[in-house]
Amino acid sequence: MSQPPPPAFSFSRLAGAALGAMCGDALGMPVEGWSVRQIAQRFGRLDRLVDGRLPAGSYTDDSQMMIAILQTLAQGGGLDSFFLARRFLALYDPARGYGGRIDGLMRRLARGEAWDRVATDSWGNGGAMRVGVLGVFFAEDEDACREAALAQCRITHTHPRALAGAAAQALAVRLAARLGAAGEKPQAVRFVQTLATQIEATDLHLAQRLRAMPPLPFGDEGAARAALRAAYACDVSAAEAAPPALGAFLAAESAEQAIVLAVSLGGDTDTIGAMAGALAGAYWGLESLPGAWLADLENREPGRVAVLRLCRRICDENG
Ligand SMILES: [Mg+2]
Repeated sequence: MSQPPPPAFSFSRLAGAALGAMCGDALGMPVEGWSVRQIAQRFGRLDRLVDGRLPAGSYTDDSQMMIAILQTLAQGGGLDSFFLARRFLALYDPARGYGGRIDGLMRRLARGEAWDRVATDSWGNGGAMRVGVLGVFFAEDEDACREAALAQCRITHTHPRALAGAAAQALAVRLAARLGAAGEKPQAVRFVQTLATQIEATDLHLAQRLRAMPPLPFGDEGAARAALRAAYACDVSAAEAAPPALGAFLAAESAEQAIVLAVSLGGDTDTIGAMAGALAGAYWGLESLPGAWLADLENREPGRVAVLRLCRRICDENG
């Protein structure tokens, strides 16, 4: 008799998604806005956490907002948008590089404006960059995963493309966690088609951008980078950032390779790195993340250890 696969929602996959995202964020932080060539000329293969506008190992807005989501889940009761908006504001540190639109939105929250009235019609990737952990948390329920991804996005971004980007990233992490738990390799074409179908009702354009995924040379970083750069702008828009992050995961043989490849694409490197990191950590688990990165990752409260503690608490209360 065959055993059922272990659950996809586990401490290793939740903490893998969380710390994978933080590692990708910190690896990409120093080269945000750089081109492929600039990164390669300055660092060769950028595979270590280096100084940028923040000290080496620092995370940016992507991880700070993800930590707010973890704090909300740790409260129990799933994803409460009212509480999450308060956590976004409580953690908000403008030095983390939020961008002017979110800075303005946080000022409005701080002045006491209602949390469900401050979002703007942005198609940016801000709803997608922070959402990966929800894919593990809701690994057993596609509809709940999509709804939570959309709900957290609506606090800051209401354009269908931003919403679809957030749903795509959460649902992709969900698929990755489930494949990892089942011990199955992701089949790139099937993965992308499944995901595009799951989000096309939210935004057809983003579904089409996912379906435009080029053939990915497995394990060949240079060829995969060239293919993904030719297909996607890798910028701050949800439709041009979520697909290449997924492509970096699907082309990679390890979590390290997925994150290094994602950051090497240039453009919005911290965000694309964070998204690829969440996918890789959910699939390969916490143990797959390079020890040197975890050791160098920021640990000022709330940092690496606090995130592990939050993930443990979420699993203990919901496992
Ligand atoms: Mg950032």
